[in-house]
Amino acid sequence: MTHAPSYKLAGVMGWPVAHSRSPLIHNHWIVENQPQPLKGAYVLLPVQPENLAQALRALPALGFAGCNLTIPHKVAAMSIVDRVDSLAQRIGAINTVVVEADGSLTGRNTDAFGFIQSLHDAQPAWRADNAASSAIVIGAGGAARAVLAGLLDAGVSEIRLTNRSPDKAQALAREFGSAIRPIAWAERHDALAGVSLLVNTTNQGMHGEPALDLRLDALPAHALVSDIIYIPLETPLLAAARTRGNPTVNGLGMLLNQARPAFEAWFGVRPTITPDLMQKILATL
Ligand code: NAP
Repeated sequence: MTHAPSYKLAGVMGWPVAHSRSPLIHNHWIVENQPQPLKGAYVLLPVQPENLAQALRALPALGFAGCNLTIPHKVAAMSIVDRVDSLAQRIGAINTVVVEADGSLTGRNTDAFGFIQSLHDAQPAWRADNAASSAIVIGAGGAARAVLAGLLDAGVSEIRLTNRSPDKAQALAREFGSAIRPIAWAERHDALAGVSLLVNTTNQGMHGEPALDLRLDALPAHALVSDIIYIPLETPLLAAARTRGNPTVNGLGMLLNQARPAFEAWFGVRPTITPDLMQKILATL
């Protein structure tokens, strides 16, 4: 069955937003999926916090299929949209808004999917539901919430969680349940013993920040090491892990994969991450 061509808009709402790589990703997929009946554009939407409700409510009238949300709107938007799906509620933030056929707005979060898919893409042998599977997550900020939800839903049975400010790790453990075991920040080095996955969700190691202060001596040689930072692509943590022979995953796969379900929700096509798209993104880093 063929559909009549239709023009659809999507975009990313943030403040500031000019640095976002989402237009490059989504516009690549829009062009890649032509000449199928897919016409549209993905634009930057610089929206100040005080205008967020008005801007979101205007999406249906402007012909938008939806939008992504980035800093500082991910939490505030939850009380503006008409419904928030259960995963986004658990994560406590929305990164994707979908305009429904009746003009109502649904909030979703695709970061957990993006994170887990990036592990599978980079390391197909890693199995979350393996009986021996346990993980350690460093950091308890916004990104950690999506990582924890993703790991729990994927079947990881024990997650050690450590954060510089211990109250935040303890709060997340209470919220996400007994599979999360808070670990004192001073104990983080020894707490790597026996894990099959280590994830850095702090900003330590990001361009302009010092390296994450973490000794890898106790980490099993086969453990997968993931850093969700993507600038630089290889953080000091990943370099140290690679040097001692651990498999590693950088944050670029999470960035690209979180965009896929959003694109599908707006444009009706599940896009793929081709070498061509990867090259385009790498050229901007
Ligand atoms: P956030 O909510 O501000 O959380 C920051 C985290 O870093 C907190 O756990 C914080 O600990 C920790 N931290 C900051 N300074 C530290 C220090 N000096 N020593 C130890 N820990 C420190 O930020 P976020 O939104 O979660 O983002 C975190 C990182 O993830 C950023 O680098 C971001 O670029 C990256 N990220 C990547 C993707 C992707 O698609 N790849 C998606 C989202 C985020 P305290 O609680 O003690 O302050």
